[in-house]
Amino acid sequence: MAQITLDKLAHSYLAKPQNDADFALKQIDYVWEDGGAYALLGPSGCGKTTLLNIISGLLVPSKGHIRFDANDVTELSPENRNIAQVFQFPVIYDTMTVEENLAFPLVNRGVKRSEVNQRVNDMLVTLDLKDKAKRKARGLTADEKQKISLGRGLVRYDVNAILFDEPLTVIDPHMKWQLRTKLKQLHEQFGHTMIYVTHDQTEALTFADKVVVMYEGEVVQIGTPEELFDEPAHTFVGYFIGSPGMNILPGAVEQNTLRLADQSFELNKHYRSLSGKLEIGIRPEFVKVTDAAGAGSSGVKMQVNSVENIGRHKIVRGMVNGQAIDAVVDEDANVPADAFAVFDKSRFNVYEDSHLVRAES
Ligand code: ADP
Ligand code: MG
Repeated sequence: MAQITLDKLAHSYLAKPQNDADFALKQIDYVWEDGGAYALLGPSGCGKTTLLNIISGLLVPSKGHIRFDANDVTELSPENRNIAQVFQFPVIYDTMTVEENLAFPLVNRGVKRSEVNQRVNDMLVTLDLKDKAKRKARGLTADEKQKISLGRGLVRYDVNAILFDEPLTVIDPHMKWQLRTKLKQLHEQFGHTMIYVTHDQTEALTFADKVVVMYEGEVVQIGTPEELFDEPAHTFVGYFIGSPGMNILPGAVEQNTLRLADQSFELNKHYRSLSGKLEIGIRPEFVKVTDAAGAGSSGVKMQVNSVENIGRHKIVRGMVNGQAIDAVVDEDANVPADAFAVFDKSRFNVYEDSHLVRAES
């Protein structure tokens, strides 16, 4: 296992990149801790696979270096990096049986037969494939083939890291949840450094200790699921994480007075003077919907457009002062016709040109 350092790393698929926009991966400096469980999260095309392939060695970056512990591996092939990588679609040998497929990465490295058998057997149990052990991979379903792919990545114990690139795409939803839980268990048991690429926030937030959020080739925030929820560093993170995402509205802040939807809020913190495009973020979970009596002087008139039931909560969508706004309320909360929105003012986040501004005190 290894700590993985990205040192001024950047990549362009063009031979002669001219400007920032030519880079599929903009400069990143980061250390992946030995034994960490990370998710790389972002929409399609934001550069996740590019970054993962640089870590695995399938791609040599146009700039910067990558180190496994103290060793510079920037130019090393995947075989020489001692990593396992699981791809979006199955990579297996159709003519081999399930158990032969699982044994292959071990046999290939000269692991003794008794140990191979033990590990293959464990993996068959883990993946619930024991009854298919002697079957040729060819005749199996896409689901089962992808499970073998996962098993081939997980069966080795001597790897520096295990990299997953959207590995559950072809797996059915119920199985997805099971396999994700299994991956987390295996991580806890063996402590491999794991990097898991996904565009699905639920997958990222349930698997990882730390989530790396990417947007247009840039890492916009690295944080725990709680940090991404409470203090999104960029409006994109606020909007991308959460369902629905964070409300982001035009507003202003002067010292400890925040203005939003024609209302002033006195905060018990203080901001430096700000310029640029100012926006206020507030998660739907921190917007209450109530009637005039419930709102008192702190409410803002809200036009309710729809109410959706989502199990234990309801999503209320509407307009406040000409701006679209979502609120998440309890399933048994009453949504009055004459509604007012009440904001939890301790939960406002302030954004200057899309970047979070922290209060000074
Ligand atoms: P993701 O995995 O997040 O969907 P990718 O890393 O695959 O994103 O792609 C990032 C950007 O790089 C995209 O704009 C994509 O079109 C471009 N790209 C990816 N692979 C290549 C390639 N082999 N040649 C040229 N451009 C590529
Ligand atoms: Mg990809």
